[in-house]
Amino acid sequence: MTLSYTEFQSIAAKLSPNGQAFIDGAFCDADDGDKFETINPATGQVLTSVAHCKSADVDRAVVAARRVFNDGTWSRTEPEYRKEILLKVASLVREHANELAVLESLDTGKTITDCLHEIGTEVPNFFQWYAELTDKTFGKIAPTGPSALALIIKEPAGIAGAVLPWNFPLVMAAWKIAPALAAGCSAVIKPAEQTPLTTIRLAELMQEAGVPAGVINILPGYGHTAGQAIGLHNDIDTVSFTGSTEVGRMFLRYAGDSNLKGVGLEMGGKSPFIVLDDAVINDNLIEHAAMSAFWNGGQNCSANMRQLIAAPLIEEFTARVSERVKKFRLGDPLDTATDIGSMITKNHKEMVMNYIQSGQDEGAQLIMGGHSNLPGCFIEPTIFQNVTPDMKIAREEIFGPVLGIMPIQSVDDALAIACDTDYGLHATIFSRDIDRVIHMARSLPCGTVSVNGFSEGDIKTPFGGYKQSGSLARDNGTEALAQYTQTKTIWINN
Ligand code: NAP
Ligand code: MG
Repeated sequence: MTLSYTEFQSIAAKLSPNGQAFIDGAFCDADDGDKFETINPATGQVLTSVAHCKSADVDRAVVAARRVFNDGTWSRTEPEYRKEILLKVASLVREHANELAVLESLDTGKTITDCLHEIGTEVPNFFQWYAELTDKTFGKIAPTGPSALALIIKEPAGIAGAVLPWNFPLVMAAWKIAPALAAGCSAVIKPAEQTPLTTIRLAELMQEAGVPAGVINILPGYGHTAGQAIGLHNDIDTVSFTGSTEVGRMFLRYAGDSNLKGVGLEMGGKSPFIVLDDAVINDNLIEHAAMSAFWNGGQNCSANMRQLIAAPLIEEFTARVSERVKKFRLGDPLDTATDIGSMITKNHKEMVMNYIQSGQDEGAQLIMGGHSNLPGCFIEPTIFQNVTPDMKIAREEIFGPVLGIMPIQSVDDALAIACDTDYGLHATIFSRDIDRVIHMARSLPCGTVSVNGFSEGDIKTPFGGYKQSGSLARDNGTEALAQYTQTKTIWINN
């Protein structure tokens, strides 16, 4: 049963977050003793100071990760052994879900409701699902004929680096760590500077579950310090990155300037939510429209922030979606009645406010939101209508609660506008006409197309982007294992 506001406040009051790095099975300060603060953006309160890891710390973590990889105490064990330990991680996360969710909410300004769902359900499910895969993933035998036997086997890639964003801190950590460890890799993880605390706490739980020293290393730090050191390290075999397209580009450069490590990129988006003229504007469609845009305060890479609505339906759609969005409650993220929490930082809030100003300057019509009377980093959900495809708010990823509604005249018009972007992460289509749905779903260059509902899929379905939203790598599903495995052919002549 969900706890009350008072009970969550009491958990918060008792927390004493650990801000140390976790290297080679031990918590430690950064090599040079440097620290930075992590704050609660909803209140401005400093939560704790955190080890600021730099290249010396990354070097030390990689030496430990390589040692344990080479000695085989994780990488070459029975799969059932890795499975058992990862299942234990899942159950420890479940057991500590309330505490972890409060810590996540304080460190990010995300609502406790979202944090509980992510940490009580999604994160442990990830560990469980990849744990279960360890002893159910088979290699192949090629059809060579009688003169040879050709085995195609998968081996762990080695040391996996991961550099994470702040919007879903522990979910993103689980997306990378669970498949990496299931595959037999050792991992070196940098959480986002704004949100290191739950990933550090996860390291404690992983140690308690029996993950051997050196297999998992958590290095809080900044992008240009710990992040860059991971990207440029000559003994990290593969790196998985989630964040902005700008930084994703850097990881490709880092690989080129170092050991040509594998690079998996999951980046931004400007995803369309398309309502064709045969759709019915009902409560279900309106709920999906509102949630697709404003879930996590719009700080979501797959947020559907361009809503392309058939011209005959646009008036009704706009009125009903605004009415629904007005009911979203902004406020204390620890209150279960709150729907939208804080933006991640003051700077981020400023950036979003600048986009809102640019929408007004370029002639879009602000129909709700656009400001906030609350102190801290809050912004009311904001809706613009009469948005045109050339406007900055229609082209650039805002990563905040700013929705733009645009009319479409036909399927071709919808496709032309939807595809006119450098991104390709996600799209939603509402239509009752199966022929149009299939045509659009096949035509849209994006990693996930969801039909008659907004969804990113689930753990079983691969997630990633076309165009500048991603590399060919995918998170989730069995596809995620490709980021953490090498393929070897063993050709045996008879
Ligand atoms: P970001 O600035 O790209 O940061 C992502 C991570 O990269 C952080 O850990 C960051 O460290 C690190 N980083 C920054 N500069 C770096 C550098 N020069 N070298 C190496 N690492 C560096 O993005 P963000 O602000 O965390 O997140 C927002 C963006 O991420 C949005 O564009 C969003 O669409 C995208 N995103 C995509 C997905 C997806 O699955 N496709 C999911 C979530 C978010 P610091 O913490 O120090 O900045
Ligand atoms: Mg914080």
